Amino acid sequence: MKLIILGSGGSEGIPVPYCDCRVCKSREKRLRTSYLIKIKDKNLLVEIGPDFRQQQLKYKFPIDYLFISHVHDDHIRGLIELRHILLIAKIKMKRIRLLISPKLHKRILAERLSEPMKADEKAIERESVRYAYRRLLKKRKVEDHILKYYRQYNFKDFSILLFKDKHGNTFTDGFLLESGNKKLFYLGDANKIGEKIRKIIEEEKPDLLIANTPYFYASPPNEKKKDHIGIETLKGLKVKKILMSHFSHKAGLTHKDIRKRLARYRNIIAAYDGMELKI
Ligand SMILES: [Zn+2]
Ligand SMILES: [Zn+2]
Repeated sequence: MKLIILGSGGSEGIPVPYCDCRVCKSREKRLRTSYLIKIKDKNLLVEIGPDFRQQQLKYKFPIDYLFISHVHDDHIRGLIELRHILLIAKIKMKRIRLLISPKLHKRILAERLSEPMKADEKAIERESVRYAYRRLLKKRKVEDHILKYYRQYNFKDFSILLFKDKHGNTFTDGFLLESGNKKLFYLGDANKIGEKIRKIIEEEKPDLLIANTPYFYASPPNEKKKDHIGIETLKGLKVKKILMSHFSHKAGLTHKDIRKRLARYRNIIAAYDGMELKI
């Protein structure tokens, strides 16, 4: 397997327009979170955020499989772009297989406007993530594979097991992916590692674990919020390699700063845009 980091930024990306913090002034660039996993000749796209169009133009990859972890904009808004590409511009592409939990599938479809809608309400609705999702499924551009939690599903060159964990006041899905004798673990935007998931990590001993850690620590400086995991939790994990990613400017750390802080951990590395890892 090969992993390509299409975006290593937090929900606002780096730099943030108008921001004059030292990270945003450092000329460092991080697009919103997205990972491309190459499994033999197939591509699995993990997260489809607001920078999907840019990422597509920059890295030009076909999508065979798509995984989305949760409903936050920075992980899902690219579905709107995907609808524009496939249904408005009518670009022909192989049908994308969406690997999604029943809970997330329902959640995306769930929000509803009152009916009947006025014309301008309809126009707004047509640019929503839910509408894009619905249309892509209906027009068979995307085929949903609804995967139950904690059950292993086999596809041609890999198997995948989905799990769910807490993410602030909502939930995030994650997965354990196996191909050949290699294992990749994706934590999504979890803000803790639940017992069940910790057990899977300990038993499966993944070759690589990807954690979305916007603030490097569990909370940004001078704030109490704990909606993501931090180095405090990761450093205790017995995993061959851990990749920290999804960095926010709020951490106040440039890539160089992050690398310095990670120097003492043999198995933890920091993502940057365009980074490639062989698993
Ligand atoms: Zn996020
Ligand atoms: Zn900034």
